[in-house]
Amino acid sequence: MNPEIYLDANATSPVLPAAFRAAAAAMADGFGNPSSSHAAGLRARAMREEVRACARRVLGADEGRLMFNSGATEGIQTAVLSALCAVHEARARGEACGDLVLIGATEHKAVPESLAHWNRLLGTGLELRTLPVDAAGRHRLDVLRELAPRAVLVCTMAANNETGVVSDLDGIAAALQDSASPALWMVDCVQALGKLPLNLSASRIDYAPFSGHKLYAPKGIGMLYVRAGAPFTPLMCGGGQEEGQRSGTENMAGIAALGAVLRALEEGGTFRTHAALLACRARLAAALQDAFPGVVFNAPFEHALPTTINFSVPGVSSADVLEVFDAAGMRVSAGSACSAAKAAPSHVLDAMGVPGWQSASAVRMSFGPLVDDAVIELACARIAACARALALPLLAPMALSGERAGLVQLEHEGDTGWLLFDPASRSCIAIDVPVALAERGAAMLRAGGYRLLAALSTAPDGGADAATFALCAHAGAGIAGWPDSGIEARLEDGRRLPAIALGADALVRDGAAYLFGRLEDGVLAPRFAFGDLPEYGAAAALQCGRASERALASAHAPVQAEAMELDADALQRWLAEHPEALVVDVRCAREFSVGPVALHGQVALNVPLARLAEHATHWLGADTRPLLFVCRSGARSARAARTLRSLGHPRAWSLAGGFALAG
Ligand code: PLP
Repeated sequence: MNPEIYLDANATSPVLPAAFRAAAAAMADGFGNPSSSHAAGLRARAMREEVRACARRVLGADEGRLMFNSGATEGIQTAVLSALCAVHEARARGEACGDLVLIGATEHKAVPESLAHWNRLLGTGLELRTLPVDAAGRHRLDVLRELAPRAVLVCTMAANNETGVVSDLDGIAAALQDSASPALWMVDCVQALGKLPLNLSASRIDYAPFSGHKLYAPKGIGMLYVRAGAPFTPLMCGGGQEEGQRSGTENMAGIAALGAVLRALEEGGTFRTHAALLACRARLAAALQDAFPGVVFNAPFEHALPTTINFSVPGVSSADVLEVFDAAGMRVSAGSACSAAKAAPSHVLDAMGVPGWQSASAVRMSFGPLVDDAVIELACARIAACARALALPLLAPMALSGERAGLVQLEHEGDTGWLLFDPASRSCIAIDVPVALAERGAAMLRAGGYRLLAALSTAPDGGADAATFALCAHAGAGIAGWPDSGIEARLEDGRRLPAIALGADALVRDGAAYLFGRLEDGVLAPRFAFGDLPEYGAAAALQCGRASERALASAHAPVQAEAMELDADALQRWLAEHPEALVVDVRCAREFSVGPVALHGQVALNVPLARLAEHATHWLGADTRPLLFVCRSGARSARAARTLRSLGHPRAWSLAGGFALAG
């Protein structure tokens, strides 16, 4: 497997070795509670205060509060609570207050979410207004100037986590000053630590939250700076730790580790210089441009941190890029880490007004200032390999089944469609392709140079429905409905039915249902059945349905109850006990091509999940070896094993948790 290249530093970073050692020391000899008055406690307290003093020097925070906490979400919470409580108290004193909170349109969602939460809980009734950004992702200072007199709190970030765009903090400070705004000002400094110069006490900033894990400290440690004289309300009360500002026994291992990072920043020599980081970005950007000639960078480099590259590739979804990059051992993300699981457009890019496709297909590559040139070079080589993989035809011939026609399953939200294709004659028949996938299906045909012979539906009226028309429209040709080929085929029961030839195979129509297989002396040897064919011997053909839930079915026994998932521990034993087993990688061919997987010295055979039906007939017939399905996370392989079992294969297994857990 490929060694990992971690390019997702804006989500979290690895831990600096010195930070790891400092944390270990704090947990070993330095385990004392800093609130204790004995020697062990005093030593712990001295360590904590050394770290705080170092943080004050690094952040230019010689005045004001600087407290340790769990991270930026907590710091943001505390700042918001403090500002809103101040509004409450001012109103209680009968003082006039503004009615607005201005929230930068590209803030991390911790900011608007905690504002909405506390505004509701405290009943403050403030209007939470978005402060728009321009096309470069920078705050609209004209809007700020206009609204700032009414604002009680302004929230802007120092640098954006998705795009790396650096805010014009001097410009914002000047706008607040010029408009004589009474607003408190929170600046989320999470992505700025170690990447931008900070001089907090000399600035107008009232609140500045930080998170250690974005710069080589572990997760669960952070800091909050509060300007001297700015309102403050503790979020947590209890034992009075941190001078009553943040109760709860301190995360001393985290503080020690953060201390090691802060010392490295102060002393210099550990992290790469700004110029070196700019060179790293230039190298990666050039590699992306070479690999994907149409690539678009979603934020102007001149206003962005050198450590973040946000890009979109025309015609390639972020999910596809992520999948292939991950297979190549490159960890990147789509949009922000919190929303990476959903393929939603990015609110940050939407706020910048980038076109919808760019926002929906954005990929973020981010590295930390420890990055070395060898890693960047390796990443560049892998980017080129990934681009080649992404260009692979999706309708590729596959060797295993020994049959000429291929069968690809297309799924969309519970609906399933099928493409039957013959690589030799470059012709294809589409059955039940969901409307939403008509364009994608047509693109697959175009990319492979396939001619659409017919687009069919197994809907009860047997005619051409909206989806078949849509597919024909997108494919620019083809016949929606059954073409009049003039050919007939005989079934084993003697019936003669209309047929269409697809290479040496044929599709036979029986009402609104279809049978596909090899034509031998005019008699069909069926392999696949589409639609409802109750009276036909279904055991001979694999039933390919319209609903994803039960896309594949046969007359075989139902799924057996016995476990079909192997965990990483059981894997070695299972492989030793089943030396004849076939390991099948059900990732798509593009993922396989950049990161083939070997288990027990055997390179897995690649059969993408979408091609399972095509190969299932082989494994249910000629080849009876035990099957071990594998994939990235274990989800696709579990589906494959469940499907094969439900089709009557007694020995189909899945590697639970995928390669990620198998090491
Ligand atoms: N603010 C920004 C800009 C961030 O990038 C993040 C984390 O992604 C946060 C706040 C929240 O930090 P944490 O999850 O460490 O509390």
